Amino acid sequence: MNLYIQNHKFHYELENLTRLFYPNEKITVIKDAADLKEPYINTVIDDKLKVEVKIGDFSRTLSSGLSAEAENERILCEMVYKILCEKTGVIQLWGMITGVRPVKLYRSLKKENGEAYADDYFKNKLFVSDNKLNLTKVTEKIEKKIIDTSSEKSCSLYIGIPFCPSRCKYCSFVQASIERCKHLVEPYVDLLCRELKETAGIISKLNLKLESVYMGGGTPTSLSAEQLSMILKTVNSSFDTKNIREFTVEAGRPDTITEAKLISLKENNVDRISINPQTLNDEVLKEIGRKHTTAQTLASYELASKFGFKCVNMDLIAGLPGDTYSSFKNTLDRVCKLNPECVTVHTLSMKRSSALTQDGTQINKEDSERAAKMLEYAEKKLFEDEYLPYYLYRQSRMVGNLENTGWSKSGVESLYNIFVMDETHTIFGCGAGAVTKLKDPHSNYLKRIFNFKYPYEYIDRFNEQLERKEEIYSFYSKCLNYRFSR
Ligand code: SF4
Repeated sequence: MNLYIQNHKFHYELENLTRLFYPNEKITVIKDAADLKEPYINTVIDDKLKVEVKIGDFSRTLSSGLSAEAENERILCEMVYKILCEKTGVIQLWGMITGVRPVKLYRSLKKENGEAYADDYFKNKLFVSDNKLNLTKVTEKIEKKIIDTSSEKSCSLYIGIPFCPSRCKYCSFVQASIERCKHLVEPYVDLLCRELKETAGIISKLNLKLESVYMGGGTPTSLSAEQLSMILKTVNSSFDTKNIREFTVEAGRPDTITEAKLISLKENNVDRISINPQTLNDEVLKEIGRKHTTAQTLASYELASKFGFKCVNMDLIAGLPGDTYSSFKNTLDRVCKLNPECVTVHTLSMKRSSALTQDGTQINKEDSERAAKMLEYAEKKLFEDEYLPYYLYRQSRMVGNLENTGWSKSGVESLYNIFVMDETHTIFGCGAGAVTKLKDPHSNYLKRIFNFKYPYEYIDRFNEQLERKEEIYSFYSKCLNYRFSR
């Protein structure tokens, strides 16, 4: 698809919008429109706003008067959106929202102009469906209560473990098979502990309050119980733990969970874990290269239940290849019977670097409609079973342009997930692929400091990463005028 951009700079949003309708196509952005090549979407600003679409036999033109710059962008998008809805017959449940944080957008509209304005904007300017607006509103209320508990000194910690037992076909995370990278694991764990100690020193000097800790990846429980203990003990001994309100470890893959590892988590104050079935259909598990069975998921859940963690979360994915509506329904019903404190319902995202996409799997209309029905069922069932949506985000190239939603029983929402999605406060990142996201508590200003992605780079260039962390002091002294002695 050729997307022509004439006399304006809104190509980013228009490209993302076009991708909602043509997820499998290459979209070429062209600024010189001397000679329009079909199929095309031509967007023009001159004495008016104009959109002209020509795709095969289909051709439409819409135009509108000029407005303020930000509104010009929205109006151009609206015209493209309306024409592409007509052309494709696709119903976009999130309307023309392309961003990953619809709840944050809703919150800021509500804060600036009130709830009625935010509702109206979502419905009539962004064309969000009633159902997704309602989901946004419920989520926003629950999130807000938790966001309000964060103070200007609050911060959180992310610890990345970039190893997995094998690679799932839909995954695009940079992670390494623990078998193939055996030789890297020990040096990695040693250096990660060093980085944690350094980070604890920074937090202490800045007099910040560490409130939530999240160990994810990858699959943290692909490490041995001893390696896990070493990292967790480092956290407990290096950081001031008196303000930590939750400590999460993503156990993730059921095939990595053992009694010894659960003992290690429990002994080291971890109070939340995830056991992620994704589906309880063995055929689908095979299809997505998950390398574990439903029986293993159920056995791991039963084992973990004996340890009395405050929260066990289970992740599911709607829209997996080979999964049907009734199989998804069956998975969710069985998961709800187990009664975990949290259930996170993801929608399959067809990441470009995943094996699924590389194999040529495409997003089609039927899959999108089926995934939408799955989410509709999930919403109904989870509300009935007294779960509430507490955080929500979207990704690019999701089947049906849907969403991922975390559902929880009242009072056991994951603080970390909310803080990350809302960008409430600074998150310190340790480990390969981790990003330290510094947040000015008095504005929306964010600064990111990246660690190296691959475990071998993390090990080989470890000191460079520590040096980058020096920037944290200048960020805080600039933003907060903190007085600290170094
Ligand atoms: S367990 Fe998670 S991080 Fe690991 S390969 Fe599968 S999807 Fe990716």
